[in-house]
Amino acid sequence: MNAAQSIKILPARAASITVAGTGSAAPAPLACDRNSLAGSVTQRACAFCGSRVILYPIADALHLVHGPIGCAAYTWDIRGAQSSGSQLFRNSFSTDLQEMDVIYGGEKKLGAALRELIARHSPKAAFVYSTCIVGLIGDDVEAICKEVSAATGIPVIPVASEGFKGTKKTGYRAACDAVYRLIGTGDIGDLPPVSINLLGDFNIAGETWVIRDYFKRMGVHVVATLTGDGRVDAIRRCHGAKLNLVQCSGSMTSLAKMLEKDHGIPFRRVSFFGIEDMSAALYEVAAFFAPQDPGLPGRTQTVVREEIEKLMPELRRYREKLAGKKAAIYVGGAFKAFSLVRALRTLGMTTALVGTQTGDKDDYEMLRQMCDPGTVIVDDSNPLELAKFCLEKDVDLFIGGVKERPIAYKLGIGFCDHNHERKEALAGYVGMLNFAREVYASVMSPVWQYTPRRAQRHAPRHHEEAAA
Ligand code: SF4
Repeated sequence: MNAAQSIKILPARAASITVAGTGSAAPAPLACDRNSLAGSVTQRACAFCGSRVILYPIADALHLVHGPIGCAAYTWDIRGAQSSGSQLFRNSFSTDLQEMDVIYGGEKKLGAALRELIARHSPKAAFVYSTCIVGLIGDDVEAICKEVSAATGIPVIPVASEGFKGTKKTGYRAACDAVYRLIGTGDIGDLPPVSINLLGDFNIAGETWVIRDYFKRMGVHVVATLTGDGRVDAIRRCHGAKLNLVQCSGSMTSLAKMLEKDHGIPFRRVSFFGIEDMSAALYEVAAFFAPQDPGLPGRTQTVVREEIEKLMPELRRYREKLAGKKAAIYVGGAFKAFSLVRALRTLGMTTALVGTQTGDKDDYEMLRQMCDPGTVIVDDSNPLELAKFCLEKDVDLFIGGVKERPIAYKLGIGFCDHNHERKEALAGYVGMLNFAREVYASVMSPVWQYTPRRAQRHAPRHHEEAAA
């Protein structure tokens, strides 16, 4: 029995795993969009973490974690969001609840912490995150926020993100509800008619600036970015935009729907990863505004052509070396997974395993259609399953985040960090080139031939070399 065969899948997880291009013409939908199975160590984080991911890049807001200090460990230091101005968001403030607070309640401590921090840092707004213990002891966070807001004159917004409340996706929803309280409170009188909001881009390694630059060259005004390099005053005005682009669909679609319902702003799901999807996103905007601005499609073509011309020569060189290599993808949202499957194809690589933490039925149907026959597709996976399929498929690369990195390295597989911890821009055309460089460096590294699994693969070559 080999290593992959020795790893057993929990029987109740079988419905959340499928293989593309096999079985009946109309396979049963993948079991997804539900709570994680007890006993399966999910790669998902808690609801609080989901909220924090979404809101913390709002750079001039105060972010206060109401709970024990351990929850606050989830700081800027392990994320890559950048700010062009205020650095307040990089602080990880916590009420540091202790045993006595749990017994007598943490409301007084929360009120005092908020007053002190607002006086010291003069933020434009404050977000207060509820953690598990706050949900258990029943602190009235809403009332404290209201009281402090009245006393200080800034919006103090509770985030109902108790960790146990559901999945990371529950936290996304809580974050959208919280930030929505700001929207509609700013003056939109001076906004131009060709204007958009970017939803679900978090300015990891400056990616929002890359995307903003494309729109600037096209002549499209960006009102607000949610939440990468986010500013409270810009978010207050984002109901004045004429179109919302939703890049991280899992996290921001609910906000886009609220803006559509209450303010009549349509939205488009897009991705800024890979040449195809980046270009499709720009052309989507151009087509939307073409009736008001007939020159926009032409200007968009110019931007796309200029950018692609810059990166193609180097990209071709990587493609020659990477052709035929196999990759595993495990990411948070499905739209990123779609883009990565396409981006790997641009590099001549195939996807042998793909999964997400938050995909829904339609997302997995889309993956099933776009992946090559034999590709394993998984929802809400765990380290053992991921290791099993990586071994079975003998992949050369794993694309994931901080929790997938050790799985790859223990198996002796190249790794590309595509999560918020990365320090390299992977969005836009320049991001595609960075992605290709990183994939090439990791997959082609000579180090893998010294790991036990790869040593077997390389053994014949060493033998041939010795004979020669
Ligand atoms: S699960 Fe609860 S205790 Fe753990 S980090 Fe999330 S909010 Fe904090």
